[in-house]
Amino acid sequence: MSDCIFCKIAEGGIPAEIVYEDDQVVAFQDLNPQAPVHILVIPRKHIPTTNDLREEDAELMGRLHLVAKEIAMKEGIAEAGYRTVLNCNAQAGQTVFHIHLHLLGGRPMGWPPG
Ligand code: 5GP
Ligand code: ZN
Repeated sequence: MSDCIFCKIAEGGIPAEIVYEDDQVVAFQDLNPQAPVHILVIPRKHIPTTNDLREEDAELMGRLHLVAKEIAMKEGIAEAGYRTVLNCNAQAGQTVFHIHLHLLGGRPMGWPPG
């Protein structure tokens, strides 16, 4: 099994509170939530960062956003608003190198982000 913690979560090797999964995408509760709703939406495919995206990943990345939208609607935050974030590399604060879309909501969000 891969050393990647998010691959392990997607494969069921590490427990997580999964809120959605299909053959390409998994979504689960963030371990250290930064907002009342903080869910990570990941592809099953191991892609380390946004810098590693290829043309063939275009549809997959669109799917991450569609799943995030569906979850936002289920969580009841869609109308009030929410934020989706991809952190890429050190200056953006990326700590897990398996691409993940943060879905944050349930409170007002500051801008610009820190
Ligand atoms: P990053 O800073 O890389 O954009 O975000 C990584 C996110 O993954 C953080 O919000 C962190 O709390 C979350 N995280 C790290 N390890 C785990 C884990 O083992 N399980 C879950 N559910 N979330 C994790
Ligand atoms: Zn991975």
